[in-house]
Amino acid sequence: MRSHPVVGTRESPDGLLRYDVEVPLNLVDMLDDTVRRHADSRAFVDGDGDVTWSEFAEIVEATARGLAGHGVRAGDRVAVVAGNGIPLTAAYWAIWKVGAIAVPLNHRLTSDDLARQLEAASPRLLLVGRGKEELGRAAAVGSESTVVLQEDDEFFFSSSDGAGYSTPPLGEFTPAAILFTSGTTGRAKGVVISHGNAVQNSVTCTSVIGRRSDDTELIMVPQFNVTGLCSQTIPIVHLGMTGVLLDGFSADRAVDLARTHGVTSTVGAPTMWWRILESAGAEGLPGLRLALYGGAPMPTALLDRMTTALGSATFGNGYGMTETCSMVTYLGGEDAVRHSESVGAPLPITQMRLLDLSSPDEVESGQVGEVTVRGPQVAIGYWVNGDVSPLTGSDGWVRTGDVARVIDGFVVLADRVKDVIKRGGESIFSIEVEEALYQHPAILEAAVIGVPDDVYGERVLAAVVVKPGAEAEAGDIQAFCRSRLAPFKVPSFVEVVDELPRNAGGKVVKARLKEMFSSSRSARP
Ligand code: AMP
Repeated sequence: MRSHPVVGTRESPDGLLRYDVEVPLNLVDMLDDTVRRHADSRAFVDGDGDVTWSEFAEIVEATARGLAGHGVRAGDRVAVVAGNGIPLTAAYWAIWKVGAIAVPLNHRLTSDDLARQLEAASPRLLLVGRGKEELGRAAAVGSESTVVLQEDDEFFFSSSDGAGYSTPPLGEFTPAAILFTSGTTGRAKGVVISHGNAVQNSVTCTSVIGRRSDDTELIMVPQFNVTGLCSQTIPIVHLGMTGVLLDGFSADRAVDLARTHGVTSTVGAPTMWWRILESAGAEGLPGLRLALYGGAPMPTALLDRMTTALGSATFGNGYGMTETCSMVTYLGGEDAVRHSESVGAPLPITQMRLLDLSSPDEVESGQVGEVTVRGPQVAIGYWVNGDVSPLTGSDGWVRTGDVARVIDGFVVLADRVKDVIKRGGESIFSIEVEEALYQHPAILEAAVIGVPDDVYGERVLAAVVVKPGAEAEAGDIQAFCRSRLAPFKVPSFVEVVDELPRNAGGKVVKARLKEMFSSSRSARP
């Protein structure tokens, strides 16, 4: 039996502080440990029922035999398009047991998008969950992947398809998954997460956040993205918690599941938390111990509401990306409220530098620069032409594409490098303008972009969603911003929209907003 509590850190030869704790070597050992320790406790609950850890292990085993029966061998890719649930979760571990690489696909994309991802990953099999048959079949047209449909509530395969297999050695750098980035800009890229990346991130997600074996965690983000898989599903297995799996976000369902199953911990994008607070009403969620968020800036106005409505919970903000197998900084406990403008400090396993946007130099203390990180959670590469191609230079540092400054040791994000608005000679960081807009009592959601302008190069446009029943005029909103922001940062244009374009991870797709508004605005004086 291994011990999992994390207490201290130690410096390793590469100069990084690492957790001083015995960790499983790979994701298969991780599950085996948990099954040994928690065999009879509840592992997962989904829309069809629940399973204990030993029952879950049996489903994994049957699925692994099914994969082997379909000819899957070590190093093969196996793609999965399925909603959150026990079959998808078991498929991940089955894929790892046979030494293959999981390729979770986003079922909200079109079949053409998925077809491109299948072409890039060239999986031997495409596992298709219930309700996704049409999408899966359409995506696989023209690919060499065999389509395998879910056959009943639990298994992807009938036992007659099964075959023996043995798990090959799985080391720190063995690829475990190819995750396509959520792609708020440009084409999605396949990021290769290794067993070591996932284990390291799980140590952070359990120890630094303070999850416990007796926690019941609700997964309401998709299990195909880095947060759902690496920062929730894997930590649940790591500690032997109970995972409640919600297929498709609905605030009412999330609140209902939280109350029915005694959920103590969950993670949501800020936009999900607005909706959960609305749905939970005055009753709140008294059982919630850990209210975690990330993936997009947390507006102060929302955090204020959360602290009032979920007073007994501890808050935590995790910042990271697919390329870093989830978290690189964390802001938790009292700091989450006291320093809410920040995403916290780098984790012990992470080194961080802020680099000048136009030179390779580090910026002076307090100045903005591009967040650049190094650590054992940084993904081992991108999947390019059937192989792992490094995503960092030989020194191991990865540029995140995020601009930030560090204030008193706390990292404060300013913008995505690509979204920084250049108005005349000034740089305007959209998060600051969005933060001001969120203070407006009628505004539910806000996103700020630059639109082309003949005189200034770019001007600021705010797209806002108004709270139900509230009203707001563009002029009022601009006047409100003038009282909080330097004049050049005040949006020149305010567009009231019904909803902001978001991707499956809850992030606003600013490229889409730019398409929507740039041409109509560029002609304006
Ligand atoms: P993805 O790789 O799709 O998960 O996107 C990662 C990006 O989401 C980061 O580069 C940030 O721009 C943004 N992001 C992630 N976590 C946070 C956070 N806690 N606060 C603000 N933005 C975040």
